[in-house]
Amino acid sequence: MPDQYEGIRNLSPIAVLAHLGFDGPWKARKGGQEHSGKCPIHGSQKNNTAFSIHEDGRYACFSCGAKGKGCLDLVMAVKGVGFKEAVEFLQAYVGSPTFVAQARKPEIKQIQEPVEQATENPPFASTYEKFQVESAWLTARGFTKDTLDLYKVFEYRNDKRRSQYNGSVMLRISRYSDGECVGYLSRNIGEITPEKPKYRFPANFRKGLELYGAWQIKNDSRQVQPLRLIYLVESPFAVLKFAQLGLPAVSPFGWSVSSEQIDILRSLARGVVFLPDRNKSEEAGQYVAELAHVMWVKAPALPLGCDDPEHLDEKTIRSLTGAS
Ligand SMILES: [Zn+2]
Repeated sequence: MPDQYEGIRNLSPIAVLAHLGFDGPWKARKGGQEHSGKCPIHGSQKNNTAFSIHEDGRYACFSCGAKGKGCLDLVMAVKGVGFKEAVEFLQAYVGSPTFVAQARKPEIKQIQEPVEQATENPPFASTYEKFQVESAWLTARGFTKDTLDLYKVFEYRNDKRRSQYNGSVMLRISRYSDGECVGYLSRNIGEITPEKPKYRFPANFRKGLELYGAWQIKNDSRQVQPLRLIYLVESPFAVLKFAQLGLPAVSPFGWSVSSEQIDILRSLARGVVFLPDRNKSEEAGQYVAELAHVMWVKAPALPLGCDDPEHLDEKTIRSLTGAS
């Protein structure tokens, strides 16, 4: 059956957004086929790239979770109106004097950004995963094969190559927007020295743009999102442990939380239970206040004798957070 609304559905989405009063600035991606900028749907002032829109009409906001395809969906979402009203709006637009010029050649204001201010971590290619070996260290720490496979965590050994990572445990970091590998966090499981620190981040990796474990939760179709609550823990290994207990958790790679990480948290869940390690709980306190602006937050103290949430059992975690 022909779609009588096809014409207005397939208008240039950038031109329609301009008509709605949102004229960017847009940042081009994918050879100019896609544009990203502030979200016209939830009206974010903070995140400049949360919203992306493709020339073919597909759009998505990873901050508020809005997504759809075509100008009818778009108008309904931006104006908060129903189908009929959106049709009328677009038909009026098509009949308006501004239409011809805009629809043929939308004027796109581009942001000129220096390369070092990229808003995404670039993809990272490596062969580490091909050289994974059975890991007594990971087994002793209590991780199952399923958990390690899901998060792509493994011990790397390739004696033919002189690498500072040889013999380390590697934790793949998956980009939140699309799951692309952006590098590996490595954990030295041998002697720790100033030259061989416990953890190494990939060169030039901007950790504030990613939240460890967030992609796995976003990609889990068994869970209705946004979740009711999510656990925010300091260490990526605690994320694995919680996942193994069936508890959704993410880590900001430490105890400080960036505004981009807060955006990701908010797109995944309505509430957050913040469980920093005991020695960092005071410094972490300032982030509780920031989180509380956008979602509900609980920050219960760890039980006496426990310094790291990785060592908690499921029952204790649930009682601690009132989430039983
Ligand atoms: Zn949004």
